[in-house]
Amino acid sequence: MYYIGIDLGGTKIASMLINSEYEVLARLTVPTRHEEGEQSVIGRITGSAQHLCDSASVEMRQVGRVCVGSPGPIIRESGMVLDAPNLGWKNVALAPLVSNALGVPVIVENDANAAAVAENLLGAGKASRNMMYITVSTGVGGGLVLDRRLYRGSGGAAGEIGHTTVLPNGPLCGCGNRGCLEALASGTAIARRGQEIAHRPAGRGIAQLAVDGPVTAMTVAEAARRGDRAATAILRDAFEYLGIAVANAANLLNLDTVVIGGGVAGIGDMLFDSVRYEVRARTFAFVAEQCKIVPASLGADSGALGAACCAAGACA
Ligand SMILES: [Zn+2]
Repeated sequence: MYYIGIDLGGTKIASMLINSEYEVLARLTVPTRHEEGEQSVIGRITGSAQHLCDSASVEMRQVGRVCVGSPGPIIRESGMVLDAPNLGWKNVALAPLVSNALGVPVIVENDANAAAVAENLLGAGKASRNMMYITVSTGVGGGLVLDRRLYRGSGGAAGEIGHTTVLPNGPLCGCGNRGCLEALASGTAIARRGQEIAHRPAGRGIAQLAVDGPVTAMTVAEAARRGDRAATAILRDAFEYLGIAVANAANLLNLDTVVIGGGVAGIGDMLFDSVRYEVRARTFAFVAEQCKIVPASLGADSGALGAACCAAGACA
């Protein structure tokens, strides 16, 4: 039997065909172009699935299930995407629409949950029984694998570490709350702080690197790498908040592994050293000793691969 995983992102749709041993037989990435509308995006999802089968000489009827990893909250039972601002989608019956077009069973899963499953089965959390996956990029997402099963909570929204409060009365978050981790440590938050100081004397190091465009988190990271003090302070604050959130999760769940991925995690040692420091400082000693904090190892593949593993019934 074969399985297809599709990672539906705001800019691209990545897909993979695997066999029941989780071996990747074919992969494809196409642009999402969500501005062309829902039907057109669904056409690219079904077209990707068909292309994967064709390129691996597999017939669609040999595919046991397709799983689409989608941003935002979803309802698994009905296969609905409730609210995906990056796609401009609200209440889209994604699974039935894709299933009708392909003639195979289709499920949806939250994209960070799918990535958590991939890192747990095949990536940096391979040996882990109780792990949290955190992606720090434009936003901050997360997924929990507890006792080797994906933990979804009562309504499928478990693992949303990005919307836990780490600073009362902190900056406003897209969710409406103040002081969420996402509003303080995401790539967007780091870029905003960089932008805020770029026109001041202290922000000269950042401004010099952003002459051709807006300040991004990577501009701030590059300035910090060159020894710029303001940029270093911005990252130090962001990673301290990330560390606080991870320490809270470690204390709450006695995790053995925290896997951190996403573009901002690519900044590397400064992030991981800071998170490890906060976890040691803020958790019981035995909790910190048991909790490894490691970089994700599957990179951009984790979403599609994880969705394919979910299609195959992994961590169900
Ligand atoms: Zn929030």
